[in-house]
Amino acid sequence: MSLTVVDHPLTHHYLSILRDESTAPETFRETTRRLAYTLLMEATADLDLSEVPISTPLEQTTGYRIGRKLVAVAVLRAGLGLLDAVIDLLPEVSVGYAGVQRDEETALPQEYYTKLPDLTDARVIILEPMLATGGSLSWAVDKVKASGAHEIIALCVVAAPAGVERMEQDHPDVRVVTAGLDRDLNDRYYIRPGLGDMGDRLFGTL
Ligand code: URA
Repeated sequence: MSLTVVDHPLTHHYLSILRDESTAPETFRETTRRLAYTLLMEATADLDLSEVPISTPLEQTTGYRIGRKLVAVAVLRAGLGLLDAVIDLLPEVSVGYAGVQRDEETALPQEYYTKLPDLTDARVIILEPMLATGGSLSWAVDKVKASGAHEIIALCVVAAPAGVERMEQDHPDVRVVTAGLDRDLNDRYYIRPGLGDMGDRLFGTL
């Protein structure tokens, strides 16, 4: 598995706002969207382009179009926080949803809903903001691979070493792009220093 920790001033700036416990849900949502743009720029930096002829108001030139089918899969519910930015930058993206909740005692993923578009020949971008134990992301990757995905990138706001190790073992072919690699997990499997419960902070359910 390849891990990219995005080292961009805007990424550091937005992640710090998200970490701050005094950030209100409205600002938290907006900032998550802004941070997602910076992760997505990195996750799409190697996309193939096809050349197309273009007429500018002045003359003929060569332009470029994205030549890949793109699919985003939001891991519910926190992954929804990254989705607006993805749809905004990639308006032709197809979107799937993978509903998984973690058992608070064991941190094991429990599926409750999955709806995926056709993944044949697509680059699949999985939106899983908190890579803690890696259980949910590994489960989501299993799901999309079972539906035919071969090229998979995960966007994570924060990753913990345990989640990175789990992904290295389970899915060495998957690329993870994150804004921060944090220290560890607490005894309830929350990332430290982290930003708390991403879903609760996005949706005001604290
Ligand atoms: N999920 C979260 O929302 N936060 C964590 O720290 C870990 C998992």
